Amino acid sequence: MARKFFVGGNFKMNGSKASIKQIVESLNAAELPTDVEIVIAPPALYLHWAHDHLKDTKVELAAQNAFPKDNGAYTGEIAAPQIKDVGATWVILGHSERRTIIKESDEFVADKTKHVLEHDLGVILCIGETLEERDAGMTLEVCNRQLDAVCDVIKDWSRIVVAYEPVWAIGTGLAATPDDAQFTHHEIRKHLTEKLGEEQANSIRIIYGGSVNGKNAASFNACADIDGYLVGGASLKPEFIDIVNSRQ
Ligand code: PEP
Repeated sequence: MARKFFVGGNFKMNGSKASIKQIVESLNAAELPTDVEIVIAPPALYLHWAHDHLKDTKVELAAQNAFPKDNGAYTGEIAAPQIKDVGATWVILGHSERRTIIKESDEFVADKTKHVLEHDLGVILCIGETLEERDAGMTLEVCNRQLDAVCDVIKDWSRIVVAYEPVWAIGTGLAATPDDAQFTHHEIRKHLTEKLGEEQANSIRIIYGGSVNGKNAASFNACADIDGYLVGGASLKPEFIDIVNSRQ
């Protein structure tokens, strides 16, 4: 089965009502390809706002996080039912900024993934190594460890998109080279084949994240195991539409 190209935009903790409305309106006005799944992730506070302004049903919404409980005394957290209630269909989990700054463990990310999937939301599952881990030759070990925590609790990966995001490439302007990224994506798929079987592993989208922009996106076009991008900084700019169109 062909894997549908997937482009996600992670706004992180950026934006205001005015700027998010502007981004959404530019997506409404753009001619977007039908063979690309497009998902934007504004801060949770603005999901409802973005949903109200999105006219193009081709563009879906993601939350940037979720807590693994449906409701209750969890001050400051966001529940999967609330995410659905405001019209989002995806959740980004395991982003390196949450793993490193908020100290989320592999097991906690796996627990959240399980919970979010049970609510019939898709998960953009971020994995990737730090610069120190890369320099120590641990890239695949780290990615596999992060994946294994999820494999331990989830057998059906049909609603998971894996985002390989080397931490050293995020927000640095230093994207991985296409060869480097393709190598790691291939190894990730090989590992998923061992854990989940060939059929399932071949159907999982593995997208790349880390300083993708309107200029370099097309340079990954020949990479057989790169099924799209998770875009941070450039998702706030008009060039996001060039990235969405980079496979055309
Ligand atoms: C990200 O944070 O997911 C990301 C890929 O950021 P950037 O594109 O800015 O490197």
